Parts: sequence; structure tokens; C-alpha cells
Amino acid sequence: MLIGINCLLDAIKYADHSYNIDLITRAFEFAKECHSCQKRLSGEPYIIHPINVALILINLGMDTNSVVAGLLHDVIEDTKISKDDISEKFGADIALLVDGVTKLSNVPLYTKEEQHVENIRKMLLAMSKDIRVIVIKLADRLHNMRTAQAWSEQKRRDKSLETMEIYAPLAQRLGMRTIKEELEDIALKYLDPVAYEEITQMLQKQELNNSIYLNNETYIEYIEQKVFNKIKNIASNAKINGRLKSHYGIYRKIYINGKDWEEVFDIYAIRVIVNTVSECYNVLGAMHEIFTPIPNRFKDYISTPKPNMYQSLHTTVIGTGGIPFEIQIRTFDMHYIAEYGIAAHWKYKQGVQSDGLEKRLSWIRRIIELQQESDTAEDFMQSIKTDIGSEEVFVFTPNGEVKTLPVGSTIIDFAYSIHSEVGHKMIGGKINGRIAPIETKIKTNQVIEIITTKSANHGPSRNWLKIVKTSEAKHKIKSWFKKEKRAENIQEGMTEIKREFARNNINLTENELQVFLDSIAHRNKFNSIDDFYAAIGYGGIVVSKIMPHIKDAYSKYKNVPTTPKQNQSARSFSPSSGVIVEGIEHCLVNLAKCCNPIPGNSIIGFITRGNGVTVHKTICPNILNTQKDITQLDKFIPVHWANSPNNRYISSLKILAQNQDNIVAKITSELASLNITINELNAKFLKNNNVSIVFSIWISHVSQLKSITQKLKKITGIISIDSQN
Ligand code: MN
Repeated sequence: MLIGINCLLDAIKYADHSYNIDLITRAFEFAKECHSCQKRLSGEPYIIHPINVALILINLGMDTNSVVAGLLHDVIEDTKISKDDISEKFGADIALLVDGVTKLSNVPLYTKEEQHVENIRKMLLAMSKDIRVIVIKLADRLHNMRTAQAWSEQKRRDKSLETMEIYAPLAQRLGMRTIKEELEDIALKYLDPVAYEEITQMLQKQELNNSIYLNNETYIEYIEQKVFNKIKNIASNAKINGRLKSHYGIYRKIYINGKDWEEVFDIYAIRVIVNTVSECYNVLGAMHEIFTPIPNRFKDYISTPKPNMYQSLHTTVIGTGGIPFEIQIRTFDMHYIAEYGIAAHWKYKQGVQSDGLEKRLSWIRRIIELQQESDTAEDFMQSIKTDIGSEEVFVFTPNGEVKTLPVGSTIIDFAYSIHSEVGHKMIGGKINGRIAPIETKIKTNQVIEIITTKSANHGPSRNWLKIVKTSEAKHKIKSWFKKEKRAENIQEGMTEIKREFARNNINLTENELQVFLDSIAHRNKFNSIDDFYAAIGYGGIVVSKIMPHIKDAYSKYKNVPTTPKQNQSARSFSPSSGVIVEGIEHCLVNLAKCCNPIPGNSIIGFITRGNGVTVHKTICPNILNTQKDITQLDKFIPVHWANSPNNRYISSLKILAQNQDNIVAKITSELASLNITINELNAKFLKNNNVSIVFSIWISHVSQLKSITQKLKKITGIISIDSQN
């Protein structure tokens, strides 16, 4: 194998700071000797792995000792060498790092819950002692994931899950974007290969749509060139970088947030890196001159940095060919922090990062403390996931003390972060001196004051459990209810179960109910139905979470399908869709995605098994087709529009126009003047020098389409306008 010490020395040549080459060479020789009999699963010599881990660390800009520890990280684990041997040969600091990584290695994070939690605790403790341990561990995991092909399928899935749930969020939390994205993309490929493939294909399809620019790469190059020409005189030495959004970034929007492919409109991103802050703003102005900005998509993280110290200007514009993309503009310093996060600390030894380091690590200590109070392993896991996964806000107590809380935290979370008693006795809160509702989300830099009562029997409200963000607050509220209110908890749990059962059409006689609930309670490891009710009451169990199981058990018990029950005199109104359904009470209503009905259209409902009523246009091809099938006829149900003018619906306009200057801009500004919000637009340039533009817009009634069409027809160059409704 050709890979050896030379590739490390090469990387060091291009590094920004100096390394102790002698020490690194010694460590390499030593590791090579120790691992000489070992091979990786792929059949390659083992030393390839430590070399690659060291390489990743050099590229991150980590210090000599981290790189040396990277080379030696598997030596204690796999050979007869001890921590003391390493200490003797390479010094105590390196020995501690290697030992820290060794303790983390091969502690599988996905094992039995109990042991699993213990392992995570070990990891956090190692981190709080020396954060370099976790950076080395991340480099180790990254190289293992890069070469995961050699593992068995089961091992690939286990390691990918662990990567997705623990390591990628850790990297994110430490601000290490490059590592985080690569980990996520590899893990996604193994966890959801079908979706991964779908995204790859969608990106290729996007290429076909862009066929005038050949493919995604040439399109990005074309835009880069255009940007370069525009700014070469205002920002010398600017670096311009275009890229496609990561697979996982797209996955999150589509599969997790439920957006349509068409809504993910910034799959391209261009990054412009310049020397000074004033150049950033100049470049921004220049970009808005050559591309049309999309309203409300501009963000200034330079004047207001994110809590993890990320700084940049973001804007989304419509590029050549009507294709939108995001532009990020920042200085080289900001860029380094954005890419390497906590690792930037070792790069800029003096100043810049050292202050942030302490703050960045305070959450680790908080999690460790919390762990000592958690009821169950599952609780603790949940808190790790929320607390590691989210970014932070920094707020102040009236005395000027800083509190760090996850983004989305409320005044209630803040109160509990001070002390349980402050939370329990809270009756109100102030933000910057003004009374604010206690569910208000707090923002960085605010001063928060909590108003408490002395009354002895005052306590938190159960509703708070649905409002609070931090696991700390949730935990403290739950413990209060658990301790103080068993009888009430049972009552509350019983009511909650009855309500949920009614909503889900679970109908049982009193006797059946006892039998049924008894089995559910036991399956969830409770000794009695009362214990089960009590757990629901204090929030230890969330009914909606176990509902799918209960429904399953119920259909087996009753052996009936879970279809809504019809009843002549009943009706229900769904405010979100603005539709009234005749003949069913309390049902879920969805507007069909195939025909997007809008008030003014004639509509009909279709009962779907277990999923409420879907509303289609009466002329929807899917409906016309289904109506031919006699067996389906009893699933149709009359529906009609309620008069709710505040609801808004997606509709679309297809416009054919001559391809002349600014035609897209003219149309968008006309729509803006009519107060129409554009959800999305897609332009396609045709060979005959026309352009076809599809707008998806928000409207409240079909009649609006007429006036929009009339207005738009007056623009010169428009050939035809078609609307879907
Ligand atoms: Mn390793």
C-alpha cells in the first residue's frame, strides 16, 4: 500500500500552522510496528486507518498532540501496549488523549438502554475533560464510515444509526459543519438507501431540466463565473464556491418536514468569501443587482451571529434560467469558524475562540448533572437528543448572570433553569422589563425576570409540559406532578384516555375497556391500570405516542377496520381546510394534493381508511376514475366550503411568454402589487426563444385567479396564461 508517512508530511506542508514533524514521524513508526500483524476488514494493512484519522485531524487544523493521538488511537485497544507505555514514549498529554479515545471506542452506544446510557455518560465525561478527545473520535468515526462498505449489513445499519443520532449532532453542536454533513450523508445512504437513491435521481432530473446548462456542475460553474465577473473589481481575492445541497439536507426537508420536491428550492448554494466585512455588504449589493432576490429570504448573521458564533450573510435569488439558489457571503475568518467550529480554537490559539470555548462546553456539564436525576434510560436518551441537537440562546437574569438554553426555550424553561422552586412558584415573567406571556420564546440578549408567588399550594400547570423545550424543565414539572398529585394524575389520565379513544373511534363497553386497558398497561410495564393512568397524568407517558400501538391492539381486539363512522345528522367543520363534512363527527380533513381544490370549485369527499376525509374537485380525474368502481361508492361523502375568507390555498399559474429582459421580475412584481404570495416559481427556457413559467401561489378564492390573469395579460410579452383551477 502506497499510503504512508509521506501523505501526512504533504498535508502538513499545506497546513496553516507548524507541526512537530519529528514527534509525528515517531508516532507513525510506532503505530505501524504495533499494528503490523493486523489487517482491516477490507484486507488492507491496519495502519491505513490511523493515518487517515491523522490526516483528517491535520485538515481540521488540530494541534500536534491530537494528530499524534490520532495515529496512536487504536494502539491500546488492539495491542499489548498500555497507557503507561505511551506516556513514557510520548508524554502524559498524548497518553490521556489516547486513553480517552480508547475508552470511547467499542463502547457501542446502541445496546441495552441501561448500559447505553452509561456509555454516553462516559463519552460526555471524556469530553468535558478534554474536548480534543471527541474531535479525534469524530475523525475516527468519519474514516470508519467512509470505509463502511467492508462491514456486514447489520453493522453498517447499527453504526449509521449511532452516527445519525449521536455523532452528527455532536459535530453540529461543536460547529464542525464539514464533518457533520459528510457523516449524515454516508449514514443516510445506509439507513434509507431508497430515499438516498431517490434524491440522487431527483438531482439528476433537475439536471435534465437544466439541460440548457448541460448539468448541475456546469450550471454552478456558469453562475460562479457570472458572480466572479461582477465582483472582481469590488472584492479582490474573493473566493467563490458553488455546491449542491447535501443529500441529508434535502432529505430533511422532504422526508422529515414533508415538503414537496418543488418546495426545496435552494438545492444550489454559492459561497463568496472575501477579506473584510464591508466587502461582504458590497458583494451582497452587487448580487442583488444581477439576480432578483426572493423576498424575506435575506438573513444578516454578521450583525446578529448565531449562538454557536456562525456569521454570514444569506440571501436567496433567482438565477439565470429562473433557477433559485442561495448565496452565502462571509469573510475568511468567519468561514473558518463556520466550517471547522470548535477546531478553529486550535488554529487561532490567541483570541477569537478561547472565549467561546467555555460557553460551548457548558451544555455538556448540564447534561451530566441532569442524568443523575433522570427516571428512566429512555428519558435520558430523549434529553440527550434534544439538548445535543439544538442550538442555543444566551439570556440574562436581572443580576446580569448569563443562562444558556436551547433555541425555542420559553420563559418557563428559563425559570426552571434557575431552580425547580422558581419554576413551580412562577406566576408570570418579564422580558426586558415588560410583562410577557410565560410561553413566549426567549431570544439571545434579552433580560428575563421571573415573578413568583409565596403561596404554598401553588404549582406548575400540566399544559406547560406541551410548551417547554428543555428536558430539564419537562423533567422537573413531571416530578412535581408525580410527587404531589397521584389522585389527580389518575383522574387526568383517565380523562385523557377517554378523550383519545373517542377521537380515534375506539368504542368499548365498560367491561371490555377494563380488559383492554389492563393488557395495554401490562404491555407498557405498569402493574395496574391506575399506575398507567397516573403516568399519563403526570406526563410520563404521552398518549399520542402510544396511540398507534393501541389502535393496532384495538383492531386486533375488535377485528374491525378503523374507518370513521357515518351518521346522517352529524357534520364536522375543519378550520384548517375551510371545509364542512356532512355525516361524520370529528374527522380529519385533507385537501387532495392531486387537484388542489380551492373555494369556488365544486368538491366531493372521499373517506380514506384510518386517515379521515380527503377533499377532491368533482372533476378530479382520480375521482372520476374511482367513481367507476361500484365497491368504492359508499366511501364518497358530501362536503362543501365554509365561508372562511382567511384561509389560503395553493394554486398554480402556467405562463408562456417571450423571453425578454426581466419578464420574470415584471410578473413577480405585479403579483406583489396584488398582494399575492408566491410559494414557488419555475422557469424553463424553450428553444423558440419563449419561456414557460409555472407559479405556485397562495390565494383564498378561485375568483382571485380571474383578476390576477386580467392584470398579468397587460404585461407585454405574455403569450398565454393557464390556471389549474
Ligand atoms: Mn479507530
